[in-house]
Amino acid sequence: MGKISKGVACSVEGCDERAVHSLSLEETRILEDKGYRLEAIHSRVYLCEKHYKEWKKARKKIEKFEKWRMMR
Ligand SMILES: [Zn+2]
Repeated sequence: MGKISKGVACSVEGCDERAVHSLSLEETRILEDKGYRLEAIHSRVYLCEKHYKEWKKARKKIEKFEKWRMMR
């Protein structure tokens, strides 16, 4: 998890940006739910800065939802 070596392209289909973060396929399912197509490499998904931010935003929403569910 975290920073990765340079030279890896973003796993989002149609995006040629250099990846800055790597995540597991499981973690990035929320991006697929948002309509992104991902090309995983050995069950890892590499994201550029832009798509990583996108993922963080999506995850935050889900965390809020999980908290709300646990309070009930
Ligand atoms: Zn990207």
